Amino acid sequence: MKITQTHTIAFFSVLFMLMASISLFAVQKLQYSASAVLASRTAEALAHTVNLARTSYSANIASLRTHPDITVEALYHGKPLSIPNPTTFAIELGESISNPNEGLILHTYSQYPFKSRMLTGGPQDDFQHDALSNLTTETPVFERIEELGGMTVLRHAEAIFMEQSCVDCHNYHPGSPKKDWQVGDIRGAIDVTLPLDGGDDALASTVQYSYIIFMAFSVISLLCMFITLKRTHHLSRELDRKVKMRTTILNKMAYTDSLTLIANRRSYEEFSDNIINQKCSNSLPLAIIIYDFDHFKQINDQYGHDVGDECLVATVKAVSAILPEDNDFHARIGGEEFAIILKHVSNEELENIIQRVLESVRQVNIPKQPDIQITCSIGATLAKELNEPTIKNIVKAADDALYEAKSLGRDQWVNKPYTPNKK
Ligand code: GH3
Ligand code: MG
Ligand code: MG
Repeated sequence: MKITQTHTIAFFSVLFMLMASISLFAVQKLQYSASAVLASRTAEALAHTVNLARTSYSANIASLRTHPDITVEALYHGKPLSIPNPTTFAIELGESISNPNEGLILHTYSQYPFKSRMLTGGPQDDFQHDALSNLTTETPVFERIEELGGMTVLRHAEAIFMEQSCVDCHNYHPGSPKKDWQVGDIRGAIDVTLPLDGGDDALASTVQYSYIIFMAFSVISLLCMFITLKRTHHLSRELDRKVKMRTTILNKMAYTDSLTLIANRRSYEEFSDNIINQKCSNSLPLAIIIYDFDHFKQINDQYGHDVGDECLVATVKAVSAILPEDNDFHARIGGEEFAIILKHVSNEELENIIQRVLESVRQVNIPKQPDIQITCSIGATLAKELNEPTIKNIVKAADDALYEAKSLGRDQWVNKPYTPNKK
């Protein structure tokens, strides 16, 4: 199958669209993974900060309270000598950092909340339940991507471990729901929720710009390729046209006699072969006329070769003019020997044409040398049937007739009937 330019362009267009879709998918995937990694790092830092603030508050403020009247409790609001306990401090710090409208939520919770925080202090959803059952000393972090309030968010839970100051307080606190805490136990977790759909953040913009630049370069490359293809196609068509034109000219030259511009011997032989291949059936009756200049050597000797050439050209022109246009083949088959092949011709038409050829040659006038009298001798034959399909036999009959015309004194014609070999 011939691959056309349209096929190539269609193939590359499809390939381009495929590449664009795959790269768009890959870029989105990359952007999503990068957002997830970034969110994870941010959540880790936030959880760590809140945890650090809580432990620092526990060790440096809550447990070192300087006055015996100062109480440390969860419900400290409205009590002048009360300060928040470390968990309340961490919960309230998380709440002040949170911005639920933008998907940022920090929440501290435990399996054993104090009675006063029974409603909000325990796990609030599946993620927080799962986090509490999965967090261990070895894996203190639990993460999951979820849909929350119509947003894709990263949920990051980090374990809160009991320290000495916590154990000292919790195991002796009257409101503590569990009193056998040990250092290193998981007290609860801090849950940091961060949005992943940050379409306008710097990372998303960078990825989107990179994709746009990549696509722009791809489109430019594709356009360049199309233009090059079109140009190549145009050049190849132009080259094709020129080659065809030159071939036609060369073919014409190969089959044309350069002096008289009628068919040459090669053309004559191929024409004859074609008649044989067609078995002559649609050419019969077929006639061959061979004419040869009389004493042409003398004309050359007396007037020069150039004048001889002029005689040849003028004679061919005169003979061509009297031949039936649509049914003749006129060729130069030797130096000053010519053949005419006529198809579907009767004997009367043949002899009429022969006489007109003879007369037209006699009438040829060379303006430079008006004295020159050109004559020719003609041998002809007419084949009405062909048992043996070879034109050579017919040509031989015409040659014999020409020889006879020469012998009889020249400037005359002999029409020898052709008798095919009977099998
Ligand atoms: P005849 O009547 O027996 O045919 O005599 P003739 O002189 O014509 O003899 P022949 O046919 O053998 O001679 C051919 C001559 O034709 C020889 C050559 O000088 C001349 N001739 C052949 N080709 C050309 C050509 O292209 N140009 C010219 N000017 N002369 C040619
Ligand atoms: Mg001659
Ligand atoms: Mg001759």
